[in-house]
Amino acid sequence: MAERRALTPDQHARMLAAVDLVGRTGAREFEIGFLHEDVPVSEAAWWASALYRGARVIVEDHSHPADAAEGLAVRLLTGARCRCGKLVALQPGGAFAFYKARLIDGSEFTAEDAQRAGQCRWTRIASRWVPGCAGGPAFTCPRCHKTSWNPGDVREGYCGRCHDWTGEAGS
Ligand SMILES: [Zn+2]
Ligand SMILES: [Zn+2]
Repeated sequence: MAERRALTPDQHARMLAAVDLVGRTGAREFEIGFLHEDVPVSEAAWWASALYRGARVIVEDHSHPADAAEGLAVRLLTGARCRCGKLVALQPGGAFAFYKARLIDGSEFTAEDAQRAGQCRWTRIASRWVPGCAGGPAFTCPRCHKTSWNPGDVREGYCGRCHDWTGEAGS
């Protein structure tokens, strides 16, 4: 292998963030490797792979292990469902193929579904990816304690689980 080099703090943070993110998807057997020996790190063609719901997901041809790890995280998370009900978008402005997309979990997703669901933009802050809905206003139902980040629910105090405006009295 090309000689090991210490990661810069940024590469280290990106690596940790990716590993954390891949772990959060429930993927297993996360591996990082390279194709070419005796070349500079940037030319080693780094790949990353993980086992996700029985299928091997792999990204290839990255110039750095942190890029490969991040690439895999993006591949696994893009189009996944955030806790707020929207689709995860890991890159700002990253367009996700919406029409009849087959999500990584195998389910079909139509353009109408996507439009209804919207996108939740995740941002990496140091070594952790944070959902766009994290700091946003939320409404927690006083009856069933379900939390919603949907702006409409927050505004109206509506609980999707109770199918009722349970927050009305309090706000
Ligand atoms: Zn979200
Ligand atoms: Zn409720």
